[in-house]
Amino acid sequence: MFELGMPSSIDTNRVYDCMVIGGGPAGITAGIYASRYGLSTVLITEDLGGQISLADIVENYPGFPEGVSGSDLSARFAEHLKRYDVPVLYDRVTQLGTITECTYYNIPCVFEAQTLGGEIVKARTVIVATGASPRKLNVPGEAEFTGKGVSYCATCDGHFFVGKTVLTVGGGDTALQEALYLKKIGVRPIIVHRRNEFRAQRYLQRKVETEGIERIMNHVVVEIRGDNRVRSVVLENVSTHERREIEVDGVFVFIGVSPNTSFLADMGVLDQRGYVVVDREMKTSVQGLFAAGDVTGGLRQVSAAVGEGAMAATSAHLYLENMDRQIMS
Ligand code: NAP
Repeated sequence: MFELGMPSSIDTNRVYDCMVIGGGPAGITAGIYASRYGLSTVLITEDLGGQISLADIVENYPGFPEGVSGSDLSARFAEHLKRYDVPVLYDRVTQLGTITECTYYNIPCVFEAQTLGGEIVKARTVIVATGASPRKLNVPGEAEFTGKGVSYCATCDGHFFVGKTVLTVGGGDTALQEALYLKKIGVRPIIVHRRNEFRAQRYLQRKVETEGIERIMNHVVVEIRGDNRVRSVVLENVSTHERREIEVDGVFVFIGVSPNTSFLADMGVLDQRGYVVVDREMKTSVQGLFAAGDVTGGLRQVSAAVGEGAMAATSAHLYLENMDRQIMS
């Protein structure tokens, strides 16, 4: 993750025009656009960069025909934000609500975010861009060996396993891309997938085949075993339920993500899976509340997150213009 030095100071007595929550590509873009629209903007995030900063290589973001490392791309995003007057509070929002007394035309005019660090930040609009976090397998041994052989990030931990054998779990783009990365740095990955075909893009499937990466299809991990670190996993065949134990030095779990939206529980804007429901303009059902990026459950791509961040800030700007017009008339 990328940090821009000391946090800028946040004025907790002020009501900002726009509060962006989340510092990945969607949040950073929203911050840049909101500031350029002349909105007083504050950005709250635990770290700048988001999940993409952990990607080994990004090959499908326009403008980088040779590809760009995730950390370089997110560092460029963060540098770009720095050019604008957007103070960044490095903190986690634990609760978001509206100040109901401040209501006119039945519009909640001020949102209030509480943070883990004990701050209260207020704004007339909020753009939620908190992204999503890796899903867990929820099998015995997973929690016990996390950080002792179980990992959710090949770019972060892959180098510990050079010359060793690891299992990568999942059949989506992330699982195949990360398995390719592990192979590239000298790890021996074995992909385990619960079905007999991958969900990942054909391009990645072909690369996995060309690289000769081993695959165990139709199997799930039922247990991770070890002593002071991972030594083996127990796999189960999904059709026959036959179990077998294979020796590995690590387990990388890439089985999708869950949205980071627990702080929105009281706002009534989440679907059954916990994603924020938005329309094409990134508006939620609550006036003044917008969302962008992975948290909306759309296409999980940097290019999509950037577009949604720009749209959300534009909608926030138009909403404030309209509200001010109503107040004046
Ligand atoms: P994903 O597409 O949701 O794939 C998750 C994989 O994990 C699926 O193969 C799924 O199996 C498997 N899985 C889910 N729960 C499981 C469980 N409990 N046990 C075993 N396996 C389980 O997630 P993702 O790969 O992280 O990708 C998410 C999004 O990011 C996608 O839209 C993807 O296109 C995008 N992405 C794109 C790139 C790229 O463009 N290069 C790279 C990374 C991610 P099933 O297939 O049986 O459902």
